Amino acid sequence: MTTRTLTTVRCRCGDVALHIGAPPIAQFYCHCEDCRAVTGGAMVPTALYPADGVALEGGETRGWTYKTMPRTRCANCATLLFGEPPGLGVRGVNGFLLPAGAFRPAFHIRCQHAVMPVVDDLPHYRDVPSMFGGSDETVDWPMAERGGSSRPSDVFAALVNGVAEGRWEDLPQLYAQQTHVEHPFHPLRMPPMRTREELREHFRQAARGPELRRQVTNVVIHETGDPEVIVAEFTYDGTLADTGEAFSLPGIFVMRVRDGEIVSSRDYLDHLTSARIRGQFGDLLAALDSKQDLPSSS
Ligand SMILES: [Zn+2]
Ligand SMILES: [Zn+2]
Repeated sequence: MTTRTLTTVRCRCGDVALHIGAPPIAQFYCHCEDCRAVTGGAMVPTALYPADGVALEGGETRGWTYKTMPRTRCANCATLLFGEPPGLGVRGVNGFLLPAGAFRPAFHIRCQHAVMPVVDDLPHYRDVPSMFGGSDETVDWPMAERGGSSRPSDVFAALVNGVAEGRWEDLPQLYAQQTHVEHPFHPLRMPPMRTREELREHFRQAARGPELRRQVTNVVIHETGDPEVIVAEFTYDGTLADTGEAFSLPGIFVMRVRDGEIVSSRDYLDHLTSARIRGQFGDLLAALDSKQDLPSSS
């Protein structure tokens, strides 16, 4: 129990009070899926205090955990009071409860999960800042480029233009956490990628290849009878930065986009040209050769 009180906040019905006896460790907006799902907000203001600096008084409370964050509410009016991540000794008080002017956010966290771009002068951390053990990496809101649009054709455009511009770090968030991306024409029949993390690794590998100057041409979008699904024809036209060699890489994506995220995609690409311009043609042929020796391939 804290011995002094700097601020007292109450739930909406007034049954429960939080006596806050310490200055905040940090104040920020969280964009994580847990916060969004629990509050129904696009981002959630949070004022973080040492756990022993936030004392509960009064009525009954109720604890509930949606995914990972145990949260405490007033049992009567259900106002969210605070979340308490296990083992960290901190309580994240609902910033909406603080008196006017007391919530002074210094940054945004978990912006890779954001559902809409935010324009302000604060840092927008992809995950969390180094003070929370994160990387300090920030985002530049690729969804802002599609104007917050969730239309399949705009998501497709954000994807291929992001590839052409080499913005590999921004691309995974165009995909749903659980997704299904196949390359049916890949000569080695690579397995589907099923998570945003696998896409992140996929784009990391692309980033390591030789530098390519690319632009997206010949785009034809076919709407289908299913409003979530488009068939998109296009070509990556470009040159190899090292040699100036020109290439033309056609592709067809059959994409299903739900709530602005790619939930499945069949990417039909010219993988042989792709391997050649990446300097991986020999490796690909060797891998194909050895695959023919496998008894299971008969
Ligand atoms: Zn209440
Ligand atoms: Zn959160």
